[in-house]
Amino acid sequence: MADRPLTLMAVHAHPDDEASGTGGVLARYAAEGIRTVLVTCTDGSCGDGPGGVKPGEPGHDPAAVAEMRRRELEASCEVLKVSHLELLEYTDSGMMGWASNDAPGSFWGTPVADGAARLAELMRHYRPDVVVTYDENGFYGHPDHIQAHRITMAAVELSGLAPKVYWTTAPHSGMRRFGEVMREFGADWDEPEGSEGSGVPPLGLPDEEITTWVDTTAFGGRKFDALAAHASQGENIFFLKMGKERFTELMGVETFVRVQDGTGASLPEDDLFAGLR
Ligand SMILES: [Zn+2]
Repeated sequence: MADRPLTLMAVHAHPDDEASGTGGVLARYAAEGIRTVLVTCTDGSCGDGPGGVKPGEPGHDPAAVAEMRRRELEASCEVLKVSHLELLEYTDSGMMGWASNDAPGSFWGTPVADGAARLAELMRHYRPDVVVTYDENGFYGHPDHIQAHRITMAAVELSGLAPKVYWTTAPHSGMRRFGEVMREFGADWDEPEGSEGSGVPPLGLPDEEITTWVDTTAFGGRKFDALAAHASQGENIFFLKMGKERFTELMGVETFVRVQDGTGASLPEDDLFAGLR
């Protein structure tokens, strides 16, 4: 069909997002012979340091954290058999409202046009058939996730290409099950539906609004191992507490909203490459 391999490009904010958000599709499509390109926008320097030291606490060295997280990201990519890892190396902006949002070089403080131009360059190089990123709220409101969404949508425009474009999401049915498991493992967790009056957009989508359900249960173990490769952030990665089997049960199907398509593949679909092969 084409003179080059079918290509999936996933654009993520931080080291570890590739595993939690799209570890299943990255592993599955690599196994199907599709070229997979991961673009990670920030250096993750607002993550935990060795021994769980938090950003801003004494002993938190952002440069050392970034270096450690780059190595963990490379290990995760090895597990997921990512063909190409591209780092934009913007500085992690931290959570919404942190002073680091406005620090020089922060991803959130970077004009969308700058990030989009660099990403469009990568798109012209790899010519992805499918591009995956977050929705306009970055799924849960993290500034770097929102910015990754913005530069991706602008880069698709700029690139002059017409890939299928998807936003990661979670079905409300799955969020409910997730909440049950969270409570079972002793975490604080409010039902996302309960947050509607709080000004925070509810997480995920009603099941009927999800266009694309990709079964990646055969790759649940890989996805788990990829997350575990981000060991320095282990304290923040709730999923690791579940163990592989529960994790795969809960996270084995990855869900998306298709927002751009030139194939006319009918919806709902169970394959990001439906209509392309
Ligand atoms: Zn992230």
